[in-house]
Amino acid sequence: MDIIINSLYSNKDIFLRELISNASDALDKIRFLSLTDKEVLGEGDDAKLEIQIKLDKENKILSIRDRGIGMTKEDLIKNLGTIAKSGTSAFVEKMQTGGDLNLIGQFGVGFYSVYLVADYVEVISKHNDDKQYVWESKADGAFAISEDIWNEPLGRGTEIRLHLREEAGEYLEESKLKELVKRYSEFINFPIYIWATKE
Ligand code: ADP
Ligand code: MG
Repeated sequence: MDIIINSLYSNKDIFLRELISNASDALDKIRFLSLTDKEVLGEGDDAKLEIQIKLDKENKILSIRDRGIGMTKEDLIKNLGTIAKSGTSAFVEKMQTGGDLNLIGQFGVGFYSVYLVADYVEVISKHNDDKQYVWESKADGAFAISEDIWNEPLGRGTEIRLHLREEAGEYLEESKLKELVKRYSEFINFPIYIWATKE
């Protein structure tokens, strides 16, 4: 985590590529399941396989939301907790010997690139087999998970809320986000929408 936070690496844009790629993987998973069981998709908005990006300038929050497979409480612990992840040590080793942070995704720890731009991250997730949970972590490696009784029900899927660092304000600009989405969505098979609140 320290390596990411203290990185002098200038291309912070890559966090969005990692989040879009995770959202796309989650959508692929639910689509695959739906081939044999149509019920898993639910109805109405839940059945829309899409990615939404929301810019909240007032609160300096950038959110990426998908209607993918979602994560159970166990998934959140297993997939987003640092220590247990097998790629962590390989990634750290590589970075300590001058590796390129741009390749973070190859180590299976791409999610952590969010800390290039955020100092506090909330992951709200709803999997068909579990209740809705919220995972939260400041960039210190510790995390907390609780049943989510505060936010609106997601139906199914995941919303990643990035509380942006002071110096990462550019990621609340619509033009910047559009440019990045265009760049990173080339090989993504799901629609991506950007929502910006009026100032
Ligand atoms: P990788 O994508 O290479 O596995 P990441 O660090 O990007 O590594 O993500 C870790 C894991 O967290 C993913 O494998 C997935 O299980 C889970 N995950 C991350 N984002 C999402 C999401 N939007 N929906 C469902 N699961 C997710
Ligand atoms: Mg990933």
